Amino acid sequence: MIRASCHCGAVVLEVDSPPVEVTDCHCSICRRYGTLWAYYAPERVRVLPSDPPTDVYVWGDRTLETHRCRNCGCVSHWVAIDPGVDLMGVNARLMDPEVLSAARTRYSDGP
Ligand SMILES: [Zn+2]
Repeated sequence: MIRASCHCGAVVLEVDSPPVEVTDCHCSICRRYGTLWAYYAPERVRVLPSDPPTDVYVWGDRTLETHRCRNCGCVSHWVAIDPGVDLMGVNARLMDPEVLSAARTRYSDGP
């Protein structure tokens, strides 16, 4: 079981398997956050607590909610606003460094 935790520990995400690949997204928001995204089907991610103490940022075409810990500010994950989208992003920067270094990194450009 792989855990991703914000710095203060208030927001934890658990997944059953480590990411094979993480995405280094260079869209206008992710390049500022410095996130590395591991993509999972939402049912494979446990968000703890289920209603995490996060603030949410939504921009542009309003497809994603990006969550950050209200206490320590770490960007933890994004969820699709459209419930039909079977994908969510976990910030792999919050996983153990060994987990992150075992994954290959994919560069992505975006709006
Ligand atoms: Zn925190």
